[in-house]
Amino acid sequence: MEKIEWMNLTRQFDAHRDEWMDAVRRVCEETAFSGGKYEAQFEKDFAAYIGAQGAAAVSNGTHALFLAMKVLGIGPGDEVIVPADTFIATAWGVSYNGAVPVFADIDPETWEIDPVDAEKRITEKTKAIVGVHLYGQPFDIDAVQAVADRHGLMVLEDCAQAHGARYKGQKVGVRTKAGCFSFYPGKNLGAFGEGGAVTSQDPEVIRKIQILKNHGAEKRYYHDELGYNMRLEGIQGAVLSCKLKCLDGWNARRKEIAAMYQQGLHNPRIRLQKQPDFSDSVYHIMAAEVDDRDRFMAWIEENGVTAGIHYPIPCHLQKAYSFLGYREGDLPVAEKHARCCVSLPMYPELRDDEVAYVIDVINRYGTAGV
Ligand SMILES: *Cc1c(COP(=O)(O)O)cnc(C)c1O
Repeated sequence: MEKIEWMNLTRQFDAHRDEWMDAVRRVCEETAFSGGKYEAQFEKDFAAYIGAQGAAAVSNGTHALFLAMKVLGIGPGDEVIVPADTFIATAWGVSYNGAVPVFADIDPETWEIDPVDAEKRITEKTKAIVGVHLYGQPFDIDAVQAVADRHGLMVLEDCAQAHGARYKGQKVGVRTKAGCFSFYPGKNLGAFGEGGAVTSQDPEVIRKIQILKNHGAEKRYYHDELGYNMRLEGIQGAVLSCKLKCLDGWNARRKEIAAMYQQGLHNPRIRLQKQPDFSDSVYHIMAAEVDDRDRFMAWIEENGVTAGIHYPIPCHLQKAYSFLGYREGDLPVAEKHARCCVSLPMYPELRDDEVAYVIDVINRYGTAGV
């Protein structure tokens, strides 16, 4: 069997090449390259898909976080609580606004932000909590919102890994002040390059982002405030509108593969992410924990399977944030997860025989002699 990678984008492109290249060609023929009608159409399509009042398409997920926090009034002197185990961009969004990220520990079984730990980190400076739907699985939004309500804070969602995931039956990205999405190529919905979006139930949030991302101008060449160039490119909008039609099918296949892992893996050395009843994950990443990760990864590699690590260093211990003064041991659950986490092969085009093979390799790990 050929090597089984933890992620592969080629099969998807091959299966849709003609349709997607037609979309790219249309944009080129119409020279609708920057922002414009394909960006606007995708905003409509994506808002409808999520069930949000509105969506603002932007240049990438990091900028979605930055702009959402900015229009919600986060700035210098503020603190924003984010989970320590996430892609660093959740924290960048806070820092770009001149505010300070305060890292919260995670739940030992769901690996999502721990609302009890988050509450302990609230100070007079805290303005918001940004939860992350990590690996495609919704965090407990209502529990985090309850903490926020007790202290008069806002909640935002980092939905970069969770397009189409549901919390208590409702798609993520509509229950809080703003949902921030990424369309980085490897995400469940990925562009032919970079892309992002903010969803909100508040039309003002969307309107303000539309202005900021477009040089601070509502009317062209009339700049009412310091703006940015953070639009979505036309090609990305057109491709994303095409791909959006496939998203539910891809997510359903990811769930099928996840169920195969959940039912098939019986190696006590491997722990999977706990799935609470309220969350319907879209399995952006098939995350697991294993105590002796180096050995485990060497074993599966020997057997033709690759794995990823998301993420090897929790945000609070990254060099970029050393000025905040965190030390090892400050967030023990997040640190343990970072030491043990491993991402198993997961993408919609994986075949059943490949998943069965990976499961067999993992189940044989650590048995007599290996
Ligand atoms: C991918 C990702 C981002 C950033 O998105 P980009 O489009 O790469 O800027 C933010 N947060 C999380 C959790 C992500 O996985």
